[in-house]
Amino acid sequence: MTTVRTRFAPSPTGMIHLGNIRTAIYAWLYARHNNGQFVLRIEDTDLERSTQAATDMILESMDWLGLNYDEGPIYQTHRLDHYREIAEQLIEKGLAYRCYCSKERIDKLREKQMINKEKPRYDSCCREKNLPTRDEPYVIRFKNPTKGIVEFIDQVQGHLSFQNTELDDLVIIRSDRYPTYNFSVVIDDNEMCITHVIRGADHINNTPRQINLFKALDATPPTFAHLPLILGNDGKLLSKRHGAVNVMQYRDEGFLPEAMINYLIRLGWSHGDQEIFSRQEMIDLFDIKDVNKAAAAFDINKLLWLNRHYIKTLDPLYVAQYLAHQMVKLNIDITDGPDLTQIVLAQRERCETMQEMAAKSRIYYEDEYAFAEDAKKHLNLEIVPVLKALREQFNNLEDWTEEKLHEIINTVAEQFGLKLGKVAQPLRVTLTGGTFSPPIDVTLKLVGKKRTLARLVKAILFIA
Ligand code: GLU
Repeated sequence: MTTVRTRFAPSPTGMIHLGNIRTAIYAWLYARHNNGQFVLRIEDTDLERSTQAATDMILESMDWLGLNYDEGPIYQTHRLDHYREIAEQLIEKGLAYRCYCSKERIDKLREKQMINKEKPRYDSCCREKNLPTRDEPYVIRFKNPTKGIVEFIDQVQGHLSFQNTELDDLVIIRSDRYPTYNFSVVIDDNEMCITHVIRGADHINNTPRQINLFKALDATPPTFAHLPLILGNDGKLLSKRHGAVNVMQYRDEGFLPEAMINYLIRLGWSHGDQEIFSRQEMIDLFDIKDVNKAAAAFDINKLLWLNRHYIKTLDPLYVAQYLAHQMVKLNIDITDGPDLTQIVLAQRERCETMQEMAAKSRIYYEDEYAFAEDAKKHLNLEIVPVLKALREQFNNLEDWTEEKLHEIINTVAEQFGLKLGKVAQPLRVTLTGGTFSPPIDVTLKLVGKKRTLARLVKAILFIA
């Protein structure tokens, strides 16, 4: 049996869109499910639009999501001479030709065709002229078959067929000697022994051209699977209008890779009504044939729900790495406060993103904090003796454990004939400035003895 080989072949011409990364995930999963191989190829032949920053972003996204590749990154710009050579070979075999038509001629032709309501296409003017190289710019065009149909069974879309008369003679080498996408992609998919091409449905119309090129190269075309596009909540193609579409933005906003992958695989694929998938389950269960043909709609609330789930359930030590990243981004000195794992344990039930967790945890690392506007509701003259009593007891406490702290709050509440909440809430406002925080003993533990004592003084002064 042949080994399944898939690839992700992004063009580094901008940010990496959620649709692109879902393609990468499906191609990766399909290879892993079949014990195959996954190749990363950077299609950087569009010199004007390709940037190193975009390439770096692709590599970072793959790394963040744990989409490991068996080969690559392979850069098409390292193979330019090879594409040119193959184009020359096709000319020699009579399967391609040099075309010297000027831009003006092509523009005029298109204009005329538009006026006549015809589909703009090259009229094959140079096709049979067998023109040699001359000292003027030319392109190399593929002699697309003029008759017959191209058909294939798409693993997602089903049977597709195209008339060759609909396809014109495609430019394979541009006048700047760079190959076009349709040409280099075929050479690479062929030479890299790709068995399954999994990509966005926006490439469906390129596929018949590519199949003709495979045939011209005496190669068997791979199996194709074109994934439906992703829509926004209004049914229109997902774009910036709907919020972030850049994968890296989700990382930066504190989504965990587990949530992102889980969310994206379910966007167009399902296994019964199961929502949560471990990495191994995805690999075991995924099949490209189960991908929906219909476009899927992006739903940020579901992504947030998954993120909350993974924040709550993953190993706190692991989650703490992402917290550290977010804290550093917020310029919080994480060496001056509790261990980050403790923060994760205390905060994980109450945060949707790691960014939110970091922002809500600043008070455990910094001395400066502000009282909320309604703080005076809890911090009033009657509470001053309670705060003083707490301060005294905390000051004498050697063993700063949740248990002991809890005992002190109980004792002080009893001493003043108050319910526990009537002591805990003013103390919470004292420690954090606001009324939301983990349970009071946990909050005290996180704030630590030194800061707790200082904050009690600050609160008393605030009241006075
Ligand atoms: N470089 C193409 C893109 O980014 C790849 C398409 C393909 O997978 O063939 O759209």
